[in-house]
Amino acid sequence: MNRRCTRQKQIILRVISGDGVHMTADEVYAAVRKEDPEIGLATVYRNLNLMCEEGRIQKVSDNGVSFYDGNPAPHDHFVCRICGTIMDAPTTYDRALDAAVEEAGGVIVDRHSIIFSGICSECMEKQKEKEKEKWS
Ligand SMILES: [Zn+2]
Ligand SMILES: [Zn+2]
Repeated sequence: MNRRCTRQKQIILRVISGDGVHMTADEVYAAVRKEDPEIGLATVYRNLNLMCEEGRIQKVSDNGVSFYDGNPAPHDHFVCRICGTIMDAPTTYDRALDAAVEEAGGVIVDRHSIIFSGICSECMEKQKEKEKEKWS
C-alpha cells in the first residue's frame, strides 16, 4: 500500500473508530472529505469493507440501511423507525442464544444480531409537541 492510501485509511479509521459511533458510508465520506477533499466515495467504501473484514469495525444493516459501527464487539442495537437513528441497546450480548443455535443446529455461530425497533426519545418529544399544538 502506498503512503497516500495508508493516510486515507488512517483518516477513515479515526472518523469511524470508537464506542457508540454509527455512521453510514455517506456520513463517513462527508467527514473524511473535510480532511482529504480529494478522497473518492469508492475509496471510502473499499476501506470500510476492508476494516470490517479485519475486525476493526462492523457493519450493521436494518431495513436496507447499512451503518458502520466503530465498536467491533458483538452488541445489540436500537433503531428509531421514524428518524432512523441507530444506537447501542443497553443490553448484554446473550451468548446463550449462540450456544442454543449451535447445539440445536449442529452449526458454529460467530455472532447474532438483535435490532430493537421503535421510537427514540427525541421523536417521542416531537410527537408530544405536535399533539399539544393540535389541541391548543
Ligand atoms: Zn427518532
Ligand atoms: Zn453499535
